[in-house]
Amino acid sequence: MTAKLIDGKAIGKRIREDELKPKVEALAKHGVVPGLAVIVVGDNPASKVYVGQKTRACEEVGVHSETHKFPEDVPQAAVLKRIAELNVNNKIHGIIVQLPLPAQFDMRLILESILPAKDVDGFHMYNVGGLVLQTGDDGAENIFPPCTPYGVQRLLEYSDIPIEGQNVVIVGSSNIVGKPMALILLRKNATVSICHIKTRDLAQFTILADILVVAAGVPNLILPQMVKTGAVVIDVGINRLDNGKLVGDVDFDGVVKKASYITPVPGGVGPMTVTMLIANTVNAAERQSAQQRVANQGQAGSPAL
Ligand code: NAP
Repeated sequence: MTAKLIDGKAIGKRIREDELKPKVEALAKHGVVPGLAVIVVGDNPASKVYVGQKTRACEEVGVHSETHKFPEDVPQAAVLKRIAELNVNNKIHGIIVQLPLPAQFDMRLILESILPAKDVDGFHMYNVGGLVLQTGDDGAENIFPPCTPYGVQRLLEYSDIPIEGQNVVIVGSSNIVGKPMALILLRKNATVSICHIKTRDLAQFTILADILVVAAGVPNLILPQMVKTGAVVIDVGINRLDNGKLVGDVDFDGVVKKASYITPVPGGVGPMTVTMLIANTVNAAERQSAQQRVANQGQAGSPAL
């Protein structure tokens, strides 16, 4: 068996063209341009690359984006003040803070200061709580799911891979990938197991997976003998080897011969993360402009005092 490649680059482009651009055009009829503010503290080279990708994807779809840069030693209060200003700026519908932040920052305090309705990275407790409590099957009706796991959901759906009733094993339990991934697929009625660094005998779990999602940040963690024949393998990991090569967490050359579907690295999950950020931003603009129209109608219809 040779697995089919799930081409995240192509699927992301299709979603931007077929789904997001028409939504942006519809918003333009109401005079609304979706706006994303990206807060960057310090000079992390990897952050620069990611911010560049986000800016280009925004331009392609017609979303306004602006980067708010601060020096590494900026006081936390200055960043909080800027977020407070962006929270009430009608032209900005989504706000993200590029992570990691320098050590002197209280990351949770910064993330919780973003208005949940503008938290398009889905890291605010309100949005995380919504993933736990809401029962809708879309996963994105009132909240913002974190972009990477949301992108994995869309990759599976786009590839017509059934989720309901499947045994899903997730390797990695971080707040931004592993845990929300588990919640998203649980909402889709999968049977979900989460593995992490303390899991005894990882292979004992991975071998049972119909869908295996790997997000550990460890090259070659998943070998062919750990994968069930015909499994769907989603490799979220991004690791730069000493020779400069970018690889995932899965031994791609071995596992591709055993799986039914597999995502490559690069070109699998990565491009979907950026696309889902734009999707959340467009969604935020739709919700905020609908609320604004209702508020305007209410004002127009209220009796003169
Ligand atoms: P993270 O915060 O470091 O979390 C890694 C998780 O993997 C932790 O739960 C850790 O367990 C677990 N883990 C580490 N080594 C393990 C092992 N040997 N066996 C089992 N579990 C192990 O990383 P992250 O932010 O979730 O990112 C994970 C990977 O995905 C990284 O390579 C990152 O670059 C990549 N990533 C890609 C995208 C994308 O768009 N494609 C987006 C985000 C992240 P403990 O917590 O118990 O230590």
